Amino acid sequence: MDDQQRKLAEELLFSEKKSPSFARLIYFGIVDPSTIFPYPHPTIEDKEKIDAFVLRAEEFAKEHIDGNKIDRDAAIPDEVIAGLGRLGILGMTIPQRYGGLGMSQYAYCRTIEILSRYCGATALFVNAHQSIGLKALLLFGTEEQKQQWLPPLARGECLAAFSLTEPNAGSDANGIETRAVFDIDKHVWRINGRKQWTTNGAIASVLTVMARTEIQTPEGKQDKITAFLVTPDMPGFQITAASLEKVGMRGSKTANLEFHDLEVPAENVLGPIGGGLKVCLTVLDYGRTTFGAACTGAAKYLYERAVQQAINRYQFKRPLGSFALVKKKIGMMGAVIYAMEAATYLTASLIDRQCEDIMLESAILKVFASDKLWDILYDTMQIYGGRSFFTSEPFERMMRDARLNMIGEGSNEVMRVFIGAVGLRDVGLELKAAGAALKTPFSEFGQLTNFTGKWIQRLSAPTIPVKSDILQPEARQLGKEIRRFGLAVTKALIAHRESIIERQQHLDRLANCAMAIYTAMATLSRLDSSIQNAPEPSLALETETFTGKAYCKIASEIINNSLEGLNHNYDNEIEKLSDRLTGIRFP
Ligand SMILES: Cc1cc2nc3c(=O)[nH]c(=O)nc-3n(C[C@H](O)[C@H](O)[C@H](O)COP(=O)(O)OP(=O)(O)OC[C@H]3O[C@@H](n4cnc5c(N)ncnc54)[C@H](O)[C@@H]3O)c2cc1C
Repeated sequence: MDDQQRKLAEELLFSEKKSPSFARLIYFGIVDPSTIFPYPHPTIEDKEKIDAFVLRAEEFAKEHIDGNKIDRDAAIPDEVIAGLGRLGILGMTIPQRYGGLGMSQYAYCRTIEILSRYCGATALFVNAHQSIGLKALLLFGTEEQKQQWLPPLARGECLAAFSLTEPNAGSDANGIETRAVFDIDKHVWRINGRKQWTTNGAIASVLTVMARTEIQTPEGKQDKITAFLVTPDMPGFQITAASLEKVGMRGSKTANLEFHDLEVPAENVLGPIGGGLKVCLTVLDYGRTTFGAACTGAAKYLYERAVQQAINRYQFKRPLGSFALVKKKIGMMGAVIYAMEAATYLTASLIDRQCEDIMLESAILKVFASDKLWDILYDTMQIYGGRSFFTSEPFERMMRDARLNMIGEGSNEVMRVFIGAVGLRDVGLELKAAGAALKTPFSEFGQLTNFTGKWIQRLSAPTIPVKSDILQPEARQLGKEIRRFGLAVTKALIAHRESIIERQQHLDRLANCAMAIYTAMATLSRLDSSIQNAPEPSLALETETFTGKAYCKIASEIINNSLEGLNHNYDNEIEKLSDRLTGIRFP
C-alpha cells in the first residue's frame, strides 16, 4: 500500500466519528455487549408476519425454482422473476411509501436463505438487484430519484445492478479508470470506460455506476470517485457481453459494459460528488450481510442431506454416522451452522437497529460464512462419496456456485487483511496518541486518561453477560480469550509498528481471532436467549446447548492456534520461497 492509497483508505473508512462497534473494541480486549446481549429477536407480531412470508417464499421456491435446470439452461425463467416480483421479494426492504414491503434486513436474510437452498443463482440475482443494485439509490438517493426509480424496482417491473469492477480494478476499487467529465453546456456528465462482470448488467433498467471525477478540494483539484444512476437508453451505453459463460451461478447474467461518451444528466449523480467510495463501502456492508445469509441457507440444506446419508448409508455393516471421522464432520457442521445462523441474524439486526458502524461485522460474516460453506460442501461430498460426483445430486452445482462466495464483493484474502488491519489501526492510534501524551502529559491529559482507562479494563478479562449458569464456563473462557487477543494486538503493534500492515499472515491470524470471537459471542448470546426463554427443559434445547457449547470449543481452538502462530510460525521461509518462485521483489 503506498502513501496515497493509505491516505485514501483513512479518509474513506475513518473520516466520520462513530461510536466503536463491538468488533472494533475487541482489539482493545474490551467487550461492549450492548449490541449483542440480549440476542435480538423480532417482536412476536413481526415474527409471525416474517414466518408467514418466508413460508410463502419457500412454497414458491419448491414449486417453481429448479436449481439444476436453471444451471443447465444458464437462465432464470421469466416466470420465476415475475413470481419473485409478485411475492414482493424484489422489493422486500424498500419502504412501503416507495412501493416495497418495508421489511427488515432480518426478514430479507431469512428469505435469501430459503432461495439459496433451492438455487444459488436465484439468490445471487435477487441480491444483485436488491442488496447492492438499488441499495445506493435507497440510502443515498434524492427524494426525486427515489420516487422515480424505487416503485418499479420494488414491483420487479425493472431490475437494478451495481457496476464497480473493471478490467484493471478488482480488489482495488479505487483503481477504477472509468471517468466522468462534466459538460457545462449540455449540463450532463460524459462517462467513458469499461465495466466487467456486472451481475444483471445487461438486464437492468438502472445501474449504479462508479466513475472517477475531478473535484475541487481545499488541497486543490483531486480525483475522486462518484456514483451515477445510469440507464441503458442513455446515448453511449454499450453491452459488450450480455451473459458470460460461467463456472457457477450460471443462471445469473454477468455482463461486460462499455461507455462511450455516455451522457448522464446532472441530476443522476447519486450521493455527494466525490463521495462514491463511501457509497460503495456502505452498499457492500449490506451485500456482505446477505452473502452470509445465502451461505447459511445452502449450508443448512447440505447439513440435512449429510445427516440423512450418515444415517441411511451402511458400509462394513454399520451406518456411516457410526464412524468417528464421519461423526466429526456431522458434529462440526451442526456446530458451525448454528454459529453461521447466529452471526447472520445478529449482523442483520445491527442493520435493523441502524447501528452506525457495521463494516467489521459484515466483513467477518461474509468471510466466515463463505469459508464455512466451502468446508461443509467438502464434508457433505465426502460423506456422499462417489454419489456426490454425479449430476443427479445438486452438490457439484452447489460447489460451483459456492466458489463465487470467496471472491465476490471483496475477495476473502482482501477481507481478512481488512478485518485484521481496521481493528489494529484503532489500537495503533491510541498507542500513538498515548505516546505523544506521555511526552506532554498536561496538554494531552484527555487522551492519556482515555488510554489508561482502556488499559485498566484490559488487566482483567472482560465479563460476558450470559444469564444461564450452564454457559458460565464458556463465557469465562471467551472473556479470557478476548483479553489475550487484546494483549496480542498491542504486542504485535509494538513489535512491528507500521510494518504490521505488510505482515499479512499476522493480519490473517488476527482476523481469525476476531471472526472466532464475534461468531462465538453471537452463539453464546443466541443460546443464552434460548435457554432463558425456554418454558421447560426439552430434548431440542439440550441438543441446542450441546451445539452452541461445541462451537465455543471450536472458536477457542481457532483463537489459541492463531495467537500461537503470532509467535511461532514459518512465515518468512514461505514468503521467501514464494519470492524465489515468482522472481518478484516488492517493495
Ligand atoms: C460471477 C461474478 C459476479 C460479479 N458481480 C459483480 C457485480 O455485480 N458488480 C461488480 O462491480 N463486480 C462484480 N464482480 C466482481 C467481483 O466483485 C470481483 O471479482 C472481486 O472484487 C475481486 O476482484 P478480481 O476478481 O479482479 O480479483 P483481483 O483483484 O485480481 O484479486 C485476485 C486475488 O488476488 C489476491 N489479492 C488481491 N489483492 C490482495 C491484497 N491486497 N492482499 C492479499 N491478496 C490480494 C486475492 O487472493 C484475490 O482473490 C463479480 C464477479 C464475478 C466472478
